[in-house]
Amino acid sequence: MTAYDTVFSGARIFDGTDAASFIGTVCVRGDRIAAVEKGAVRPEAREVIDAAGLALAPGFIDVHTHDDIALIENPAMEMKTSQGVTTVITGLCGYSPAPFLPEARLPAEFEILMFRPEHRFERFRRYLDAVKAARPAVNTLALVGHSTLRLSVMDDVNRPATEGEIARMGELLEQSLSDGAIGLSSGLAYAMASRSETSELIALAKRMPKGGFYVTHLRDEAEGLLDAVDEALEIGRASGAPVIFSHHKAVGGANHGAVRHSLARIDAARGVQAVGLDLYPYDFSSTALTPERARAAGGERVTITRSKPMPETAGRKLSEVAADLGCTEEEAVERLMPAGALYHTMAEADVRTVLAHDLAMIGSDGLPFDARPHPRLWGTFPRVLGHYARDEGLLSLAEAVRRMTGLPAEIFGIPDRGFVREGCFADLVLFDPGRIRDRSSLAEPTAPAEGIAQVYVNGMAAAPGAGRQILPAHATVA
Ligand SMILES: [Zn+2]
Repeated sequence: MTAYDTVFSGARIFDGTDAASFIGTVCVRGDRIAAVEKGAVRPEAREVIDAAGLALAPGFIDVHTHDDIALIENPAMEMKTSQGVTTVITGLCGYSPAPFLPEARLPAEFEILMFRPEHRFERFRRYLDAVKAARPAVNTLALVGHSTLRLSVMDDVNRPATEGEIARMGELLEQSLSDGAIGLSSGLAYAMASRSETSELIALAKRMPKGGFYVTHLRDEAEGLLDAVDEALEIGRASGAPVIFSHHKAVGGANHGAVRHSLARIDAARGVQAVGLDLYPYDFSSTALTPERARAAGGERVTITRSKPMPETAGRKLSEVAADLGCTEEEAVERLMPAGALYHTMAEADVRTVLAHDLAMIGSDGLPFDARPHPRLWGTFPRVLGHYARDEGLLSLAEAVRRMTGLPAEIFGIPDRGFVREGCFADLVLFDPGRIRDRSSLAEPTAPAEGIAQVYVNGMAAAPGAGRQILPAHATVA
């Protein structure tokens, strides 16, 4: 019997902490890291990978995804494994495919997440079972969406919920958490949830067991950013739940720079409550096309990513589409919907400010079913490592790796992952630190990144079947 299954010999090891990198050898047996040796050694193994000149890091954790259904439809998950991602968190921004009661009616905005009726599940457990049966290549953790709960329980989501409805949502939330959800996400900027009162979120967050998270797409990322941050912090304090700020940013020219103030508030809260945040490394956003968002941005700053009635418009500016159609931009939006869009309304300086913050985790927020998706779907992690760390020097390579591995593992309490350490699961990415870069762009939105050499998930080369479902300690169903 050979001692090890796979050995990565002589790599520069970034272990997921802020410790300096070192040349070493990582030995894998079964699904775990069995030994980490200094220097380039060659112990007996089934496979020895000569990793000289390459960097070896823990597999990247994508803390913000809308991969809920992609995991089932596309278990190979190349858009993530090609970046070195080995674990994804789903159910963000208030959108989750479960629990949907049969009577729930879904607005067009939900097409961000799913596009077929069989993509909705009545029990959270059934959704998790479907993911497991699809055998995805990456590890998974899932949140319950607040908008999903509202759509299930309320006949009309364009109003605050009643006490009875909040109680019913709370029951569904508790059931989903015990089925295996890790916490609650909200998308308070979306019409499905924007009429909810702070007290509704507090009441729901209070139903979470210790270890449950409140992850929020803030009510307002423009003029009301600071108030929205305060609201999220209040929900965390009142409920005891850790608060994770999703895709932290300031939208709209007049608000650029406001992230300095929002980060200061989050920093001030760190001493008294658990907080975290994530971002994607781009200065433009992507979500559903709506009349309100198109009006706020202006058609020059809106690029169509998909349109059900007019698929040929994907990749074009809203202003051009309107000119071609000979109508106003507002009319064009109505004709394009249901649709998705990019919004060029952020500032590069803000992206840098947030990325430089020591709490900032990396989350792609990619939309896997857009015809011409935001390049973040295929490029987020290599872009941080190549463009921002190596080329721009905004943060060290070790720090960049920590933000996508050890930090999220600690913040989300993911056991035995996020570090290159004896006993941890062998989620590993081998990459060329001199060559790694994102290649996805507006012109080529799905071009795979360059410089990733090998990706291992639970000791296996990343491929369907390699991933595991990670259940929280509060789950009661095995
Ligand atoms: Zn969001």
